[in-house]
Formats: sequence, structure tokens, C-alpha cells
Amino acid sequence: MSEQQPILCPDCGKPVEVLMACGAKSYFCNHCNELKSSQRIRGANPDLFEEKQ
Ligand SMILES: [Zn+2]
Repeated sequence: MSEQQPILCPDCGKPVEVLMACGAKSYFCNHCNELKSSQRIRGANPDLFEEKQ
């Protein structure tokens, strides 16, 4: 069972939509109705952005 974990908005805590554009990911929160910077998304979801080196 590998259910995909939702990426949560740093402001409201709701799942954000991931948009792929030109190879870059954008995160849009339907609740705040605005784009979130990947830096803030990463800060709010450290488990999902673990760096594997
Ligand atoms: Zn939000």
C-alpha cells in the first residue's frame, strides 16, 4: 500500500494541487486561492522533500 501523501499548504493546512509547467513544479492552494512557493511548501512538508543522496 503506497498511498500518495498529500502536500499540505503552509498557510491553511489543506492539500495543494501540484502543477507541472516546463519541468518545474508549482503548488496551488484552492483554499487560499493562490500559488505557494516551493520553498514554503518544502518547509511545511519536510517528510515529502527528503533529500536522498
Ligand atoms: Zn492554503
